[in-house]
Amino acid sequence: MTPRILVVEDEAALATLLSYNLEKAGFAVSLASTGEDALLALAEEPPDLVLLDWMLPHVSGIEICRRIRREPATRDLPVIMLTARTEEADRIRGLETGADDYVAKPFSPGELIARVRALLRRARPELSAEELRAGAIVMNLAAHRVHVGDGEIELGPTEFRLLRHFLEHPGRVYSREAILDAVWGRDLHVEIRTVDVHVGRLRKALRDATGTDPIRTVRGAGYSLEAGGA
Ligand code: CA
Repeated sequence: MTPRILVVEDEAALATLLSYNLEKAGFAVSLASTGEDALLALAEEPPDLVLLDWMLPHVSGIEICRRIRREPATRDLPVIMLTARTEEADRIRGLETGADDYVAKPFSPGELIARVRALLRRARPELSAEELRAGAIVMNLAAHRVHVGDGEIELGPTEFRLLRHFLEHPGRVYSREAILDAVWGRDLHVEIRTVDVHVGRLRKALRDATGTDPIRTVRGAGYSLEAGGA
């Protein structure tokens, strides 16, 4: 899956530059220009990593970072703080606030991308993993195969992507709209009930192979893969 980065930066030119370089490096980017927008974006769907400007109008980057660490849903979210402040005391304060890393402006895009990749490898190993697991279900990404115990499950390409999405975020509940975005892509026009059809097929394949149903339907909310798996 493409890691999603939320860039929180009030300088439009820098936000554009960051978004351009991150997308070129293979990341999906969403932008927020104020602390308030950042909090909304985080509540809507937590990204895989946040690039957070220290100096923002109204709600500062430090305050955003504190809130990210306070909320159970975002507590473990990797955060890189961007700042023009280079004093050691500020650096330490930034890390004490809960940021995982710190990049001082001006920085080279190459350096920033390297830091993003390093932090993602450390904090979200599943994003660069060769294999994804939940209980007895093992997905080999390189071989494009899914096994349960000794048996292989044959999945269609959409069910494979769907299962991959669930395995990358076990236990998290996704609305059908969010699943549509993640598995089919934002730009495609696919009807929402298509999600139910493919979840149904995936569910049947998993149930036939495991004897249990690891996909939970959350009424009015969506679907999740039980963290313990089958
Ligand atoms: Ca700023």
